[in-house]
Amino acid sequence: MRRSDMTARLEERRSPWDIVVIGGGATGVGIAVDAASRGYDVLLLEQHDFGKGTSSRSTKLVHGGVRYLEQGNIALVMEALKERGLLRQNAPHLVSNLAFVVPNYDWWEAPFYGLGLKIYNALAGKYGFGSSEVLSREETLARLPTINTEGLRGGVVYYDGQFDDTRLLINLVATAADQGATLVNYARVVALTKGTDGFVDGVVAADEETGQEWTIAARVVINATGAFSDSVRRLAEPDVTSLIAPSQGIHLVFDHSFLPSTSAIMVPHTSDGRVMFAIPWHGHTLVGTTDTPITTPTLEPVPLDEEIEFVLETAGRYLLKPPTRKDVLSVFVGIRPLVKSGDGKLTAALSRDHTIHFDASGLMTTTGGKWTTYRNMAEHAVDQAADFARLAERPCVTRSLNVHGFHSNADRFGALGVYGSDAPAIQDLMRATPSWSEPLHPQLPYVGAEVVWATRHEMARTVEDVLARRTRALFLNARAAEAMAQEVARLMAAELDWSESRAVREVAAFTTLAKGYQLSTKG
Ligand SMILES: Cc1cc2nc3c(=O)[nH]c(=O)nc-3n(C[C@H](O)[C@H](O)[C@H](O)COP(=O)(O)OP(=O)(O)OC[C@H]3O[C@@H](n4cnc5c(N)ncnc54)[C@H](O)[C@@H]3O)c2cc1C
Repeated sequence: MRRSDMTARLEERRSPWDIVVIGGGATGVGIAVDAASRGYDVLLLEQHDFGKGTSSRSTKLVHGGVRYLEQGNIALVMEALKERGLLRQNAPHLVSNLAFVVPNYDWWEAPFYGLGLKIYNALAGKYGFGSSEVLSREETLARLPTINTEGLRGGVVYYDGQFDDTRLLINLVATAADQGATLVNYARVVALTKGTDGFVDGVVAADEETGQEWTIAARVVINATGAFSDSVRRLAEPDVTSLIAPSQGIHLVFDHSFLPSTSAIMVPHTSDGRVMFAIPWHGHTLVGTTDTPITTPTLEPVPLDEEIEFVLETAGRYLLKPPTRKDVLSVFVGIRPLVKSGDGKLTAALSRDHTIHFDASGLMTTTGGKWTTYRNMAEHAVDQAADFARLAERPCVTRSLNVHGFHSNADRFGALGVYGSDAPAIQDLMRATPSWSEPLHPQLPYVGAEVVWATRHEMARTVEDVLARRTRALFLNARAAEAMAQEVARLMAAELDWSESRAVREVAAFTTLAKGYQLSTKG
């Protein structure tokens, strides 16, 4: 995949695209995969990099949502469990089975969660990930050696999926491209065009790299901009009422010593009545999340002090070694595009299910849902869009469509396993240029060949793209990522023919960004 090829295709196009998708997160890219694999001509435009929004900032779970079961939302759980199974089937190099232990400190918890999690597993039917079990205190400790032992009675173990959100996203971009879609990052939609009938019939997009503007015709435009959906809707109709109630959630990342196990901890009820997870992820410990209503979504949301304190305090209750601010290697924030219902005051109670909405202008917005259900969401969206635009009816094929990189035994590639069937090509780069097999930082596994691969084949355009979303360095250890920036810029400069001043600007921009993922240590 090369951005220049994508923009050339966009510029050569003379007839309207069947579908233009705005937004390159899980929702938009899922739609591009679905539409292209049905045989529709589809163009996707992302204002920044693919996955810059919420889709890089999730808890990285492919799950049915135990909490929705508690809320009695059986249909939503069943749908997500099925999608969880399909995702593992279609992207086994990126989705793995993870054991989650609910530690029990009260007598009623083992029977209560034991039964609930049996139901959770039963709802998965043939898509099950493994039977839940009640654990003794010793069995719980064997799985979670660093769990707080004071008052610990035992636990319940159940199984769910884990993934790397942006590796999946980049592989979905590649899948869509393999199927014939055109996808352009750094292309911001700045206006919607309308025909004489008043219906939206295209978009105007700005190339964020050159400042050039493209006017693009479409038979239907799908707004898949997540938390930003309302601002895009207002490009067509300034007075529409909001659909989205944005709410932010933070995660803190610590080193492996806080949870040196292959099982995760699931806390079903925090002091504010939410679910919290501590998860082993890429050799680190990921803890989150919160749910804080916000007024205006931004691309780089900022964690609030009270959110940080809440996550630290909750983690401290369950871990033998309570983490402090100075242990935080990275903090990242995502915005839930919750769809408003009722008076829309309590975001935690709003629907997690997806919504497809048509404005009077004919602009279609699809939002809500979750990463796990992106495929199902895309199938519904393309059905609706095709119907609306009177495109020839074509069946969805994504239930059994392998995601780019599909490999049934990718673990054998070690740290390169996330690349699946692309891993051997990266190993070839390492063999051809041995210096590219050196780790770029002693605390992270990433090597120069991955930077070159991302730049040549995955449309990485900036140092941030490589360190935040092609590799996960920024999300795992922001200081280490900052230290890698110079070398990443040097490697990218050679690939993209950057001037020295461009490389310097890139490092400076990334350094500023990375500071936002680090915590100052107070007192
Ligand atoms: C804290 C948190 C944890 C989560 N954890 C999980 C989890 O573990 N499992 C799970 O299944 N789900 C999880 N989710 C939900 C999941 O991450 C989201 O549902 C999903 O990522 C939303 O994707 P999206 O494509 O709709 O939005 P986004 O990823 O935000 O994508 C929208 C894109 O639109 C682009 N855009 C905006 N305006 C324009 C424009 N004018 N022109 C072009 N592009 C534009 C943005 O730059 C952005 O990239 C979590 C969500 C949060 C907030």
